[in-house]
Parts: sequence; structure tokens; C-alpha cells
Amino acid sequence: MTNLLPEMAEIWQQTLNWQPDEQQQQKFQQLYELIVLGNQQLNLTRITDPQDFWEKHLWDSLRGIAPQGQFIPSLSENASIIDIGTGAGFPGIPVAITVPNCTITLLDSTRKKINFINETLTQLTLSNAKTLVGRAEEIGHHPQHRKTYDIALIRAVSNAAVCAEYTLPLLKHGGLAVIYRGNWTEEETKSLQNAVNQLGGIIESLEQFTTPLTNSIRHCLYLRKVVNTPASFPRGAGVATQKPLS
Ligand code: SAM
Repeated sequence: MTNLLPEMAEIWQQTLNWQPDEQQQQKFQQLYELIVLGNQQLNLTRITDPQDFWEKHLWDSLRGIAPQGQFIPSLSENASIIDIGTGAGFPGIPVAITVPNCTITLLDSTRKKINFINETLTQLTLSNAKTLVGRAEEIGHHPQHRKTYDIALIRAVSNAAVCAEYTLPLLKHGGLAVIYRGNWTEEETKSLQNAVNQLGGIIESLEQFTTPLTNSIRHCLYLRKVVNTPASFPRGAGVATQKPLS
């Protein structure tokens, strides 16, 4: 299979001020091969070209945890992280490979995807990642998970108000939610403000950047939890999607 890694070393360095070591490179390569193979059985991703995979899955996953090109400081302090609606494992698996000192929970409501991830984690010998089958609306009320994470990641799951409702209840006081977006407007930031406040958070920052190979526009929203989320959130299964907070 095409090797997608060595020529990217300089781009990692320029954009994230970091480079994967040899073991991490091998794991990225192995992840790519497992996803391409898994795609024959399961509908995991449409992104299978090696360069696309590198940019849209690997690089994009890591750029979210490196606002302004610097890794979030709590990542060096053994942060506990949850990836909500991880699908085939993004952004969670690349993050687990990159920060082996942190523990990461990969949550998805689809058992088939979680089964695939379990097999992938075994193959990659990634002991700092574990999986959870369930809906964010239930897990957000579970005492083992509510208010226990330093960082919550969410990419391509729903609109931003829904993502805020799924992530903020799971965060400790002071924790950070990272909402990965494609396009985004100032108007959307204004209309999200009230929803985030109701959930005990603030919009700490919004970052726009371009991807390094195809210059596509991306955004990441960073929400900080500043007070407790009221016990009524997240609302029951499907409610956030049907009636997003405004
Ligand atoms: N985050 C991955 C990515 O960026 O490639 C996967 C995105 S995929 C489009 C959305 C995933 O979110 C699906 O695997 C779906 O099962 C999961 N999902 C949707 N709603 C969810 C919920 N309420 N709780 C948990 N997982 C959910």
C-alpha cells in the first residue's frame, strides 16, 4: 500500500511544531491500511486516497487539538479526553497515537463501528484508548462520565448547538470542548452564544485555518466550561437535534 508518511515530516513541523516519531509513523500507516481494508466490509469513510487520508483524517484530527499550531497545554498533563461520535475513530485514534500519556474514550452509538475500532486498537497496540457504545445524550448523564473529561472532541456529528449540548455536560469545570467545523460565519458564532451559556460554557475562541495540501478552509470552535451544566442537559435522545438550543 502507498506509504503516506515520510514526505509529510516537514508539514507536521511547520504546521504543528511537532513530528511523529518512527513508532507513531508506523501506527498512522497501519491505521490507514486497516481503514482501507475495513472499508471493504463497512462504510467507514469515503476518504481513501493516501494524501486525502493524511490531510483530512490525520492532519485535520491533530490540528483541532493544536489551536494556533501549538498543542493544548493540558495534553502534556495526562488529560482525559472523549471523542463523541468517533465513527471510524476520528479525531480520536490519531490523537491517541500522538499523545500516549493521555487517556481517550471513543464514543459512538453504532456498535459495528465500535467493533471495528476495538479490532483496530488491538492491532495498533494502543492501550491509552478505550471504546464506549452509546448515545451522547445518555452518556452525558452517567456518573462515570459526566463532569469527568478535560477535553471533549466532536467532528462531523451535528450542528454546533447540538455539539455543545453533547460535549459540555461531560467536561470537568475548566474543561475544553473542540468542535471541528468546515465553513463557519460570525453570524453563527453570535447565534451559538446563548446555547453555550445555557450549558455552562463560553465560546473561548474560534479559529479559521487552511489545510496544508488542498488549501481547504476549516474552523474549530473552542468552548470552555465555566460553571456546572444544568442537570436537564443533555436532553433525551434526539431532542437536541430536533430542537437545537438557541
Ligand atoms: N467523527 C467521525 C469523523 O469525523 O470522521 C465520524 C463522523 S460520522 C459522520 C458521525 C458519527 O456520529 C456516526 O458514526 C454516528 O454513529 C455518530 N453519532 C451520531 N449521533 C450520535 C449520538 N447522539 N451519540 C453518539 N454517537 C453519535
